[in-house]
Amino acid sequence: MKKTSNAPAPMKLYCNLFGHNYQVSKKVTSHVKEYTCKCCKKQLTTNSNGALTELTPKFKEINSILEEMYLRRTHRSREKALSSSIY
Ligand SMILES: [Zn+2]
Repeated sequence: MKKTSNAPAPMKLYCNLFGHNYQVSKKVTSHVKEYTCKCCKKQLTTNSNGALTELTPKFKEINSILEEMYLRRTHRSREKALSSSIY
């Protein structure tokens, strides 16, 4: 039986041989970033220990919450600075 696969096998082989080619794909907070391998699209993220770990759906969820909190905090501090300059 002939099996067709849509997995980029040569790219995965390349990564296994030469290592992944990670690039920052998303900045979640000033400490947490998401990385994507340019070759095989494997994703990593910074975990709470500051180490890199695989970007699982659970971590995606955590990151989106972190991002929202981070944005809200930076937004709020900017608003505060604005209003304090008015008074
Ligand atoms: Zn890779």
